[in-house]
Amino acid sequence: MRNEPYQILALGGDHIGPEVVAAALEVLRHVARQANIPIEIEEDLLGGASWDKHGTFCTDAVLEKARQADATLVGAVGGPKWDSIRIDGPITETDGLTRLRIELDVYNALRPSRAWDPILHRTPFRPEVVKGTDVMVIRENSGGIYYGEPRGRETLADGQERAFEISEYHTHEVERIARCAFEVAKRRRNKVASLDKSNVMESGKLWRETVARIGRDEYPDVELTHLLMDYALLAVTMNPQDFDVIVTSNLFGDLISDLTGAFAGSLGMLPSATLPGIVPIGETMRGGVYEPTHGTAPDISGKGIANPFGAILSVAMMFEYAFGRADLAQKIENAVEHVLRDGILPPDLGGNAMTKDVTQAVIAALI
Ligand code: NAD
Repeated sequence: MRNEPYQILALGGDHIGPEVVAAALEVLRHVARQANIPIEIEEDLLGGASWDKHGTFCTDAVLEKARQADATLVGAVGGPKWDSIRIDGPITETDGLTRLRIELDVYNALRPSRAWDPILHRTPFRPEVVKGTDVMVIRENSGGIYYGEPRGRETLADGQERAFEISEYHTHEVERIARCAFEVAKRRRNKVASLDKSNVMESGKLWRETVARIGRDEYPDVELTHLLMDYALLAVTMNPQDFDVIVTSNLFGDLISDLTGAFAGSLGMLPSATLPGIVPIGETMRGGVYEPTHGTAPDISGKGIANPFGAILSVAMMFEYAFGRADLAQKIENAVEHVLRDGILPPDLGGNAMTKDVTQAVIAALI
């Protein structure tokens, strides 16, 4: 048993962020106590809450705490009060969460989505199409077109404007995210689908060649398929059960993870983990950022009705990846399924349960 407590940094953020983080921390404390895992939790500010107090969206002190932490749990940041604030400088100055992710070099973004039997009717899919679907999108999160240089905007001699960015990948960036995908597939159903636009993009050609090489040389037992991104959108929509791990670039991962999110029936159901790599199952990994996928939902904040499942399932991912306890992650997932089956549903899932009722029901189901 580990004696040294795991250090958890909790950054609620704005609007419903602190509401769902409070719920997730209750579950975290409960499961850690049950399993005799020592933890220490420190809370701090991020996003608009940090701006209001410190005049910056992410302070150096928070960044340092995140660097030192075993895991960072984030709610969500932003809202009408802060979204229009314009400050000169790189994106790390204008977006606290992006600063955190870049400075921690968390390039491996895991975006799972599964179709939960009790709420299949909340998805836009026919039950026979979506039932049993359980996908893990692995999005390369620190390179590609969002960060390629040069980028910019200029006015040309004829008065037209030109705006541009570069889609760029280096071999080592593709190699490391490919290894993450194969490693995650080994924990699951041993299948990887790699998505690219190798028919028209040079970075897509490098992507495909590199993923194929890593698969062939290092993971011959994992089934690998390559799909063009456009066809993948159709294939994932038509036959979601065929997919297990999906690995793709920053931009395409951003897009496809929103599509796969629809399998879960509500934005409020979706967790995520963004990690500085991957470790074999059972090992611990420091420095990950765990957060629900949704935003701050200003329209429902303060009402106590936010869906906490996405944040709670992010804590499940923390148990699996930060603490090396996939068994406890499974236990939390089972408790969530139990609560859904009992019909204790927040309003976004068609029920009228409050955040605190849902949270207590999850804790009661954690036997
Ligand atoms: P949003 O995700 O906050 O909300 C979209 C819709 O989903 C809203 O109707 C909201 O009520 C609902 N919703 C979201 N999460 C929910 C939950 N847990 N329970 C119940 N309903 C939920 O997206 P938005 O409205 O486009 O953005 C609002 C703010 O959040 C903006 O400032 C945006 O920049 C920010 N945002 C932050 C993140 C992040 O921090 N990771 C992500 C997306 C958006």
